[in-house]
Amino acid sequence: MTAPKYHLTSYGCQMNKLDSELVETKLQQRGYSAATAEADADVVLINTCSVRQHAEDRVWSKLGKLRIRKRTEPQLVVGVIGCMAQEHKRYMLARMPHIDLIVGPSAFGDIDDTVEKARTRNRELVAQREPARTKHEVVGAGMVSVDHGISGDSIKRNVKVRPHQSQAYMSIMRGCNMPCSYCIVPTTRGDEISRPIADLVDEANRLVDDGVSEITLLGQTVNAYGRDLKGQDATLARLLRELHGIPALRRLAFITSHPNFLSPDLIDVLAELPKLSRYLHLPAQSGSNAMLKAMRRGYTVERYKKRIEQLWAKVPDMELHSDFIVGYPGETEEDFEATVALMKELRFSQSYIFKYSPRPGTLSAELVDDVCDAEKNRRNQVLLAVQEELSAERNQAVVGSTVEVLVEGESKVAGRMTGRTSQHRLIHFASTDKQLVGQYVPVTVTEALAHSCVGDLQGHDAAEGGAHDLQYDRDLDHEQDPAQVSGS
Ligand code: SF4
Repeated sequence: MTAPKYHLTSYGCQMNKLDSELVETKLQQRGYSAATAEADADVVLINTCSVRQHAEDRVWSKLGKLRIRKRTEPQLVVGVIGCMAQEHKRYMLARMPHIDLIVGPSAFGDIDDTVEKARTRNRELVAQREPARTKHEVVGAGMVSVDHGISGDSIKRNVKVRPHQSQAYMSIMRGCNMPCSYCIVPTTRGDEISRPIADLVDEANRLVDDGVSEITLLGQTVNAYGRDLKGQDATLARLLRELHGIPALRRLAFITSHPNFLSPDLIDVLAELPKLSRYLHLPAQSGSNAMLKAMRRGYTVERYKKRIEQLWAKVPDMELHSDFIVGYPGETEEDFEATVALMKELRFSQSYIFKYSPRPGTLSAELVDDVCDAEKNRRNQVLLAVQEELSAERNQAVVGSTVEVLVEGESKVAGRMTGRTSQHRLIHFASTDKQLVGQYVPVTVTEALAHSCVGDLQGHDAAEGGAHDLQYDRDLDHEQDPAQVSGS
């Protein structure tokens, strides 16, 4: 008998992608294999994100297409997992009765059982030729599994299930205890639960033994790590020290941090430990105190800036990344200008800019969404343009220097390879040597673009294709960075 095949699509942040790896581990341990195409799969799973409306819209659209497929393939198992599953479980089943299973993040620990039950039930339905109630209706097994308290973290990770040979993400905590008014994460992911340091060190060692040299630690408020592990002296600073001691580990990063937990201890660790990456994702969200208060962020602009001053006093080469929300309810032109001013003052290297959209179930959804779409779009465009200038300026600062690049793969444009520095700077260089993937190579930066740099490989046989063509470089520059954890 051939092994049943699954296909898993992930939306949203890096945390979701890592969850998908854990779900795949469970299914493979159960004897399932990955389908090369969704059309070949017996089980189609969608790992969803609730943080923004756009991500939800894509899931609804995909489910609509699967409904059509299920009319001719009634045994097909369709599953929705992740944040939307947690948040909209009943509504989803009512709107899309062809869904067979709905599994929230806290129930990934036995997802293989749930999938297997749905598959058995569908086979029984088909064997009995149980008809759909109307010609157009497609009925699923409708199993909901959201509150088991067995998250993916309880799964002993199969370190071989990962997209990159030399890079890996590690979830060190789940959930969030912060009260940000616009955010659905505390509802969908629950309270903060940190994994014990010993487990994390063990997992990191297994990843490194399997060839990983760069690990990025994930958490919605990653620098609040350990608050719930009472009496264990568990902090992010201590965890970083422990992981830093793994000899073959070469780079260590963490996302996403909250400004309130950028402690002096953490700054000291960043200053002391050379393997720690030189970028910090520390979302400011707004440059207006009125907006920060309305968003219940728990800090002021002055306090945020003070933390950054303290950081740069000890780690001057630390690149700063941020998130900003434009068009939050009540945001005036003056509030928005304050955000522009903060961005320019701190000269962020990268920012993710989001137009506010109310998420049902959050505090801010009760407010009048009074900044119109056109104005949100305008503010979004203004901030994007400012950020683009700043990013180009930060990239320009490294032109002429030789940087260490961890090669990630071939560029989308033929004849070039691509990788990142410890400051998370995307670097393209002329080479066709796929053997470089996973290696750390020196590249002399020759040109700065808004989102990336172009350089010349040193000390290796650089391939043909070094001449710079403007359109070519622009194409390269739009290879964007997906590595973000929603939240904080
Ligand atoms: S924005 Fe970040 S810190 Fe605030 S509630 Fe959401 S995940 Fe927590």
